[in-house]
Amino acid sequence: MTVGGNEELMPAAFFGHGNPMNALSENRYTGAWRAFGESVPRPRAILVVSAHWYINATAVTAMPRPRTIHDFYGFPQELFEVQYPAPGLPELADEVSDVVKPTWVGADIDSWGIDHGTWSVLVHAFPDASIPVVQLSINADKPLDYHLELGAKLHALRSRGVLVITSGNVVHNLGGMDWNLADDGYDWAQRFDEAAKERMLSDPTEFAALDAHADYGNAVPTPDHFIPALYLAGLADAAGQTSDTRVLVDGYAYGSLSMTAYTLGMSRTDSSATGSSPQPPAGLPPDGSNI
Ligand code: ZN
Repeated sequence: MTVGGNEELMPAAFFGHGNPMNALSENRYTGAWRAFGESVPRPRAILVVSAHWYINATAVTAMPRPRTIHDFYGFPQELFEVQYPAPGLPELADEVSDVVKPTWVGADIDSWGIDHGTWSVLVHAFPDASIPVVQLSINADKPLDYHLELGAKLHALRSRGVLVITSGNVVHNLGGMDWNLADDGYDWAQRFDEAAKERMLSDPTEFAALDAHADYGNAVPTPDHFIPALYLAGLADAAGQTSDTRVLVDGYAYGSLSMTAYTLGMSRTDSSATGSSPQPPAGLPPDGSNI
């Protein structure tokens, strides 16, 4: 399968990345991420919107050699040793600036790189780290609609061989985590994730209106991990008739995280990935460990 001309669109996806230890684990989530990477056409570059680059600006990484960032605390040394040495693609920063006009996007040449929201997924999806990776920040000053609309503008990149990946968790309440519930979700987490699924699959323009859902306060105490899903909803909206959003894999972790992942534009979705259930990490990090 190849992507050529303007007729064919690169797929896009949202990944619920969960615990950073998933980078070192093999479970049904990482199996699905791997299957996704194996089934997409080889992209020219990967543009990632990660929950962990949440700043007061809209910016894109523009360095030729982005560093691997270990932006968490309290995890085993093994996780701090993970490197994802993918090259950058400085000219993609210009292309992103172009397609999102009149929104202004800053070019970051020395502050960010590839954070764990990105690499914990990409080490499974694209393990050889040979495809250039560029990150787009989440502007924390903007309302939810801004992100949905910015996501829609990224649609143009899909016909230019760019794989847009977004990474967060639709339900993400670190304060509510229970390490004994490794593979389970609270009732409110399940209600919110199911409501989000319904909107993503049938009416993505209404995804931003989930902030009126009764369980939003519990599910989304801070919007950083929720917002990446808005970018995929925007992409789905922009795809219009050709939109075919699907659930790649779903489930819950530690009571208050949902692991749902979505794909857009896949001719088929391999949901048959198997593996052991996620296990709690050996060393339990404290709350506030920025996962
Ligand atoms: Zn995270």
